[in-house]
Amino acid sequence: MAVTAREQKLLLGGEWIETGTWREVRSPYSGEVVGRVAQAGADETRRAVDAAATAMAEPLPAHSRAEILDRTAHLIDERREDIARTISDEAGKPMKAARVEAERASSTFRSAATEARTLTGEVVPMDASPAGVGKVALTARVPIGIVGAISPFNFPFNLVAHKVAPALAAGCAVVLKPASQTPLSALLLAELEAEAGLPAGWLNVLVGPASEIGDVLVEDERVRLISFTGSAEVGWKLRERAARKKVLLELGNATPLIVEADADVEEAATKAAANAFSFAGQSCISIQRVYVARGVYDDFVASFLPKVEALRTGDPGDDETDVGPVIDEGARERILAWIEEASDQGAEILTGGETAEDGVIRPTVLANVSPEMKVSCLEVFGPVCTLSPYDSLEEAFELANGTEYGLQAGIFTSNVKTALAAGAALEFGGVLVNEAPTFRADQMPYGGVKASGNTKEGPPYSVREMTEERLVVLSR
Ligand code: NAP
Repeated sequence: MAVTAREQKLLLGGEWIETGTWREVRSPYSGEVVGRVAQAGADETRRAVDAAATAMAEPLPAHSRAEILDRTAHLIDERREDIARTISDEAGKPMKAARVEAERASSTFRSAATEARTLTGEVVPMDASPAGVGKVALTARVPIGIVGAISPFNFPFNLVAHKVAPALAAGCAVVLKPASQTPLSALLLAELEAEAGLPAGWLNVLVGPASEIGDVLVEDERVRLISFTGSAEVGWKLRERAARKKVLLELGNATPLIVEADADVEEAATKAAANAFSFAGQSCISIQRVYVARGVYDDFVASFLPKVEALRTGDPGDDETDVGPVIDEGARERILAWIEEASDQGAEILTGGETAEDGVIRPTVLANVSPEMKVSCLEVFGPVCTLSPYDSLEEAFELANGTEYGLQAGIFTSNVKTALAAGAALEFGGVLVNEAPTFRADQMPYGGVKASGNTKEGPPYSVREMTEERLVVLSR
């Protein structure tokens, strides 16, 4: 593993600051120190909100915002390998996946630049009612105000991009708190923003105790919107506490995939093997529960298991690695305990269920699971997937919906009527047909229902969330 320890200050009001307290960032794979980051608290957060307010007092025109966003995308392309290495070092994400994340971030910024250039309101048909005769009205989209952004560890670069890029496109300044385990990627993005010409105060990045920084973002009325991606537990509590703000939540899932008897079973097995274990299952839309029509269940298992067993576990810095470590020891112990508990309750371990010599959890496939087991109804967020046969499509829909979550679901079928029925019956923010439910293109509307959230991300959608419609009525 090529680890270069970086020392990172925090970005506040255009200055790179130290605070006198440092925190080490360690590789989840080797435990090596990969960086040291200055720690902020409530005081720095209040100063960051001041800086954001000062920045927004001098709005940037849309063409400048778009140019900065485009230049950032260009810089991301140029620094792709460095970005991927940073992601891999601090998150333990295999380089293959880290490179894809860096590429996607560039597309997130380009999409946001397009939004900055095309964001528009509408003309209201005033004479459609007698009251409006003689008046002309239009709506303008104005920035909502300062955006407080809180991001998770699992996509430490592109999920930061999904908050920062649309906020800047909308004309909002940002106070960002990245995950404590993965701050280096966010700070690298902040460096690129500065290089792209973003003036002081428009992006402020603070690393430190979540509750201290979070409390200021919740309490300071100048922060008009909080954009949170992370666990349901933290997200919904944050929303309760910030009753007078807009709080956008992108939360977890227990992602189901249905494989119908008329599907291309080989293709479904290939996509499932690749998307249940990528980044050790630590994607909010990692395939966790696979329901297969009983008639093709044995064929699916016969095709799926060898593909899972062929995945290479190990050092995330190695180009050949498919499955690396989970984020920390606590997560590893929890996942292994859930596997053991399922096994004690009668689940059959078809492969995996143990760790390799280096401590990486081997991709684990469980059969004979029941809907009440934690591995079925909660979010595993680890390299674990369950297989279950079903007898009717209705039963498959019911099983897939049997979770409090509702982010994305998938179905493989060659029947268009079945595909349309799935679109109607599956209670998820997105239903993917003949594609893994792990698929995401960054401009698409991505977000969940039920416990999974209350918004759609993707620059065209986030920019609308981050702006307000202002009505202007003119009388003749
Ligand atoms: P997490 O523990 O909820 O942390 C997410 C962020 O919230 C981190 O920056 C964390 O800071 C911060 N935080 C924790 N407690 C806080 C508080 N009291 N006030 C303010 N901020 C607080 O989630 P995670 O373990 O990093 O990420 C995994 C979860 O994210 C999974 O559930 C996954 O499904 C979900 N996720 C959802 C999406 C989506 O788009 N729907 C995408 C990716 C991940 P610290 O790191 O300092 O604790």
